[in-house]
Amino acid sequence: MTAAAEARVGPPLWLLAELTYRCPLQCPYCSNPLDYASQQQELSTEQWLDVLRQGRAMGAAQLGFSGGEPLVRQDLPELIAGARDLGYYTNLITSGIGLTEAKVQAFAEAGLDHIQVSFQASDPELNNAVAGSRKAFEQKLAMARAVKAAGYPMVLNFVIHRHNIHQMNDILALCENLDADYVELATCQYYGWAFKNREGLMPSKAQLVQAEHEVNCYRDDLRSRDRAMKVIFVTPDYYEERPKACMNGWGNLFLTVAPDGTALPCHSARLLPIDFPNVQTKSLNDIWYHSPGFNHYRGDSWMPEPCRSCDEKDKDFGGCRCQAYLLTGNADNADPVCSKSPHNDRILAARTAADHATAGLDDLIYRNARNSKLLYRG
Ligand code: SF4
Ligand code: SF4
Repeated sequence: MTAAAEARVGPPLWLLAELTYRCPLQCPYCSNPLDYASQQQELSTEQWLDVLRQGRAMGAAQLGFSGGEPLVRQDLPELIAGARDLGYYTNLITSGIGLTEAKVQAFAEAGLDHIQVSFQASDPELNNAVAGSRKAFEQKLAMARAVKAAGYPMVLNFVIHRHNIHQMNDILALCENLDADYVELATCQYYGWAFKNREGLMPSKAQLVQAEHEVNCYRDDLRSRDRAMKVIFVTPDYYEERPKACMNGWGNLFLTVAPDGTALPCHSARLLPIDFPNVQTKSLNDIWYHSPGFNHYRGDSWMPEPCRSCDEKDKDFGGCRCQAYLLTGNADNADPVCSKSPHNDRILAARTAADHATAGLDDLIYRNARNSKLLYRG
């Protein structure tokens, strides 16, 4: 990127602090790296607070605490309080495992603005099978209620795949029962463990159409009953004709810091063959404005055809670099989701495979340290 183009880069407005890769659950669609078990290093409390200070000084306003499961960090209240003092709007993204009413209270007192609790399904059997924990569902229910009782809006997230996509009505009924304010039904995006398990997770087109229909009917029903619960249904890229404007542009708004301090333009970018900088050795300012990793896909001079001469490139920036890399072996390529991409056949083949898939829950590779080490070795 030229110096003039560098000067046009705005600050990172959204900071995602991936505090840890540790997590008691084993979701087979987890976006953490496949080799997470060999990456155990974590920034200290002081290092995280320094990252937050630097981010805020640069202009970051939104801060997400995620992981892994951020609750395993014992210093979470201290980090929340530090973020509040700095003036961030803070969001905790949690599975609810390890949460207690006392912790919800402590987080509220420390100034946490928002909590999002994730579920795996609408019933205990499927939820616990996908999460790899026998007690997960009951705990999640209790903690969703505790979050609401503490005065937070209830924000629930469900990752949708072929094994729970038939549950739309039940999921939404559960959310209503819990008095949820916002529900995100996020169809699986295929990175990390989800990419490894894509054949066993990807819904068929018919399943997707049915699910969207059920969600729309439920929305109509909510409206007719004057219920304010907001339902967001995130459709999967693999059934689109154009890619998403990934992260609103590479190095444009979002900055993720991984547990060991590696700075990334998105939480999946670690899988790319790019040498990303680390907050332990460089300032956030240097990383954001001057590092080769963050400048790699800024602007459009890096684009090959068909994106280079495409009149839609300002809309989607050529799509997702991780998806291009995973599906074509070259992150420079147009995202194969695009019907103009010469690699769009990979997406069409995945759709056909989803129509004929028979894999059950037992065929999935669950995200745990044993599987991570096996995959990394192999
Ligand atoms: S997706 Fe599941 S396994 Fe991965 S961090 Fe979240 S709760 Fe843990
Ligand atoms: S060719 Fe590239 S820029 Fe054009 S729509 Fe497809 S992905 Fe976007």
